Amino acid sequence: MSMHVIALDQGTTSSRAIVFSKEGEIVSRGQYPLPQHYPAPGWVEHDPMEILRTQLMALAEAYERSELSPAQIAAIGVTNQRETTVVWEKDTGMPIMNAIVWQCRRTAEECERLVQSGIGDYVRETTGLLIDAYFSGTKIAWILDHVPGARARAERGELLCGTVDSWLIWTLTGEHVSDYSNCSRTMLFDIDRLCWDEELCRALRVPMQMLPRPVPNSGVYGYVKPGVRGVEALQGIPVAGAAGDQQAALFGQGCFSAGQAKNTYGTGCFTLMNTGSRSLRSQSGLLTSVGWQLNGETTYALEGSVFNAGSTIQWLRDELGLIGSAHETDLLAESVPDNGGAYLVSAFTGLGAPHWDMYARGAILGLTRGVTRAHIARAALEGIAYQVADLVSTMEQDLGHPLESLWVDGGASVSDFMMQFQADLLRCSIYRPRMVETTAAGAAYLAGLATGVWSGTDEILKNRALERVFAPEMPQDDARRLLDQWHKAVRRTLRWAE
Ligand code: ADP
Repeated sequence: MSMHVIALDQGTTSSRAIVFSKEGEIVSRGQYPLPQHYPAPGWVEHDPMEILRTQLMALAEAYERSELSPAQIAAIGVTNQRETTVVWEKDTGMPIMNAIVWQCRRTAEECERLVQSGIGDYVRETTGLLIDAYFSGTKIAWILDHVPGARARAERGELLCGTVDSWLIWTLTGEHVSDYSNCSRTMLFDIDRLCWDEELCRALRVPMQMLPRPVPNSGVYGYVKPGVRGVEALQGIPVAGAAGDQQAALFGQGCFSAGQAKNTYGTGCFTLMNTGSRSLRSQSGLLTSVGWQLNGETTYALEGSVFNAGSTIQWLRDELGLIGSAHETDLLAESVPDNGGAYLVSAFTGLGAPHWDMYARGAILGLTRGVTRAHIARAALEGIAYQVADLVSTMEQDLGHPLESLWVDGGASVSDFMMQFQADLLRCSIYRPRMVETTAAGAAYLAGLATGVWSGTDEILKNRALERVFAPEMPQDDARRLLDQWHKAVRRTLRWAE
């Protein structure tokens, strides 16, 4: 019986593949680093052929290590770094230029021009996004404007474009599709009608014939073609699910109901809240995306991020030399009964929602002679949790009801101290799963749902195993007092570098 699913997890710095069993256990994996290219300050590129090569090698490696036969693999699911854009030739499959990576700022001026043209409200209403160089639309136009002859060729239908999901699925199956969650990060997609928006394609100068066909997140898109290098054994296996990495993590965490959210504590934090079938527009600058569409039902998500989270801990270690390892931060934090009055606002690169101040800069406030390095370490961890709490409270206001639960993952979520403090601030339970590969699991579940490995989301929830639950312990008044003081600290950092 075909009861295993392979997830392809194409990330910014590596390409990975993981084989999952029906029980949601990891059977095997493969991973290859992805080279980064920085052609100019602020510019970031990936070679699409390197994306492909590393991804196919990871797939072959995971498959071989699983020691399964092709008949035991029900499907392949795809998850990917979002927004990164590839343009390639329809006939040869050759990219006409490197992929422009989500982080790349080269279209910032073009975005400035779009803002000036007054279409900001239309973009927000239609796509759920704010005009920014992150999103794929202006990256596609940039490629067409800078590769000689490309625009004319695109108009003639000779070129195709897509995000990384689309590029991988096209190479594997020959089908030119992109799932709704990835489409919703292009700034060209109507997230309510679930189709490309003609007016936006015109405004951003993207020929519609080069865009992939938008498809639901779970469903057979095509089958692995004969002769795909290194994975010939997998010929005929359906590619049956896809989602952008953050949406896949929300799904992989099992946040299937409105009011459930996940937070990934990595270098920065990515918080996504399931808002159900309502595609809310945030009053505070959060983004709205399609979470997924499953069995014809669309689930939307509100999204926000904390720019500096785990990076604050790296800063304590590498720049201040205050700690020897990330884990030492936890030990220090737990060695003191409170923060000693110290607050660390890690606004190294400004502050995002709900403060939205690019000119805010970091600060440590409340210092007295009694403040020790343990208090500073504690303030750093607390500072991350405060920022997540501010973000979540913004989401709660947009949604109109409180957060039901927060599911956590990412490298810094191992901090017991920070997770407990987060629960105390949010006044809800924090769930840390045993299986932390939530992004890959999300892609596997989407593909397995389409091919009968799992009968529905209820069955997937049975796979969810908790490592630990953190419930609020601190009295609510104390939490409120700390938050008030935190907001006072944040106010001192605003507009600092203006
Ligand atoms: P990314 O995917 O963004 O590279 P990861 O999910 O790998 O990030 O998480 C790494 C981050 O987690 C680092 O910034 C590191 O400082 C932080 N981190 C790791 N362990 C701890 C810990 N015990 N306490 C706090 N932060 C930690």
